[in-house]
Amino acid sequence: MIPIIVTGAAGRMGRMVIQAIGETPGVQVAGALERPGAPELGQDAGTLCGLPALGVALGDDLAVLLPRVTGGAVIDFSTPAATERAALACAAAGVALVVGTTGLTDTAKAALERAGASIPVLVAANFSLGVNVLLGLAAEAARQLEGFDLEVVEIHHNKKRDAPSGTALALAQALAAGRGTTLPEAGVFAREGEVGARRSGEIGVMALRGGDVVGEHTAFLIGTGERVELTHRATSRATFAHGAVRAARWLADQRPGRYDMRDVLGLTRGR
Ligand code: NAD
Repeated sequence: MIPIIVTGAAGRMGRMVIQAIGETPGVQVAGALERPGAPELGQDAGTLCGLPALGVALGDDLAVLLPRVTGGAVIDFSTPAATERAALACAAAGVALVVGTTGLTDTAKAALERAGASIPVLVAANFSLGVNVLLGLAAEAARQLEGFDLEVVEIHHNKKRDAPSGTALALAQALAAGRGTTLPEAGVFAREGEVGARRSGEIGVMALRGGDVVGEHTAFLIGTGERVELTHRATSRATFAHGAVRAARWLADQRPGRYDMRDVLGLTRGR
């Protein structure tokens, strides 16, 4: 059995990950972490998710839990500050780390980069097979549809904290790569007022928020007299949770380094 610690365990994704581990052969919940002061601390991770008790109480100190998961992995869906701390703790303990948290700060990204020198680290803005295939399709479409204007629109539920979504950024990066440029060079993240005509080569990225939308992303490739829309709609967080558990099983066996979901899914590098 591969032991797994879930951080952000009482969150929307954390609960789904605990359920997904329960539905996946060969893995087990060995620890569950929440923020200091969280009302769920001390509760059983299983009953918290509507499952039979797992005998794993929610704790708030990752360093204490990590010795339980030698040879296993941590799955993190929390906040950028918590992810940064998890990167340091996992590197110190020699435990693989799967990160789904988005909106990562530069310091969190740097901590993950350093951790990748001593442990396997996988960061994915999106764990679904469909989105990872979409990234390759978007890069190819941008490459072939020369001269078409490129825009990305995403919609998420009204509790989401970061914007645009990590997946929207990944999609825009894929479009940029298809055009031989980068998002820092081409990205436009807001339009308001007298912005002037659209520059050719811009990649617009816009975020909508509302209700309980799990996550929808569309890459628009807009030409003269025609346009192509590549859309992915997630209808359940379970897809992401099962993808993260699959990633953890795969990552626990890897050498130290940085990985992404395309490595797990065996997708060719199209971007
Ligand atoms: P959420 O707010 O429901 O859950 C986050 C949880 O993290 C909360 O329970 C919070 O108390 C906990 N937390 C905060 N500080 C902590 C700490 N120091 N240690 C442990 N836990 C801590 O949010 P969510 O919808 O579950 O999303 C979490 C993150 O995952 C977000 O960044 C979101 O964008 C991202 N996300 C990624 C994917 C993907 O496929 N990569 C899919 C969905 C969500």
